Amino acid sequence: MDIRTIGVVGAGQMGNGIAHVMALAGYEVALNDISGEALDKAMATIRKNLDRQVSREKITQDALEAALARITTTQTLTDLGQSDLIIEAATEREAVKQAIFDELLPHLTPDTILTSNTSSISITRLASRTDRPEKFMGFHFMNPVPVMQLVELIRGIATDKETFDACRAVVDNLGKTAASAEDFPAFIVNRILMPMINEAVYTLYEGVGNVQSIDQSLKLGANHPMGPLELADFIGLDTCLAIMNVLHDGLADTKYRPCPLLTKYVEAGWLGRKAGRGFYDYRGDSPVPTR
Ligand code: NAD
Repeated sequence: MDIRTIGVVGAGQMGNGIAHVMALAGYEVALNDISGEALDKAMATIRKNLDRQVSREKITQDALEAALARITTTQTLTDLGQSDLIIEAATEREAVKQAIFDELLPHLTPDTILTSNTSSISITRLASRTDRPEKFMGFHFMNPVPVMQLVELIRGIATDKETFDACRAVVDNLGKTAASAEDFPAFIVNRILMPMINEAVYTLYEGVGNVQSIDQSLKLGANHPMGPLELADFIGLDTCLAIMNVLHDGLADTKYRPCPLLTKYVEAGWLGRKAGRGFYDYRGDSPVPTR
């Protein structure tokens, strides 16, 4: 199966990164979002990140221009219907993703492969509600997409080998490494990472440490490049909470209960870097811990 055109749904943190790496690898990309503002912001981010790659001599100016020319943006979801591969990277809410697939289905070619960049939602369940569960799988990039080497590829129960191989070939073309994960809540990376972040929030909630001491402890004491609270802000606290809820519901084990403090930050709209405030306040020159 030869993939040349890629539709990306959702132009947030992940969607813009996916469009960036795909266009740089030579794929024609159609990037969709319900928000025109999000599309404008995504294109500005892609340009800025490509510029940075040029200034670091990782890519040429010609490659930058060619990549930008391969990306079109649209607020009309059905414009993506003719793509060979669709990667859905919209907000981490099952109802949102479901509505996107429902709207897309009547407009797809019979061969279009449908994938989701979901961090945690069941691929098998999403697939079962489409007309092509055998051509549906998880295509899970890490953040920031242009920098991170790993892509988790998740087979639903019905995903066929041809679909898996086609997606793995795309990952190879990007120069990234694919890890194959089974379809259980949060797959591999987040199954391990999110309980650690949630535990860091409990450590803060219980007053064992403050934001700075917790992050410093994991950086200097466990050699992590970022502290867990800094990382949570980077990922987005709403996404972290959504993943903990999926682990809690899907594995029915109280060890995955989301920390009430994480819920409170999300309720406040303090969603991390993207909102200007989370465990740190980013509105000044340098981040200031909020606790
Ligand atoms: P985000 O909030 O930055 O962006 C989501 C985008 O989806 C927004 O621009 C929003 O306008 C758009 N959107 C919402 N409903 C839509 C619809 N019906 N049609 C089109 N666009 C719509 O979120 P994100 O961090 O980019 O996460 C996107 C997906 O990627 C989620 O499934 C998340 O779990 C997954 N993911 C996130 C990370 C991370 O570190 N943030 C890592 C891996 C995977």
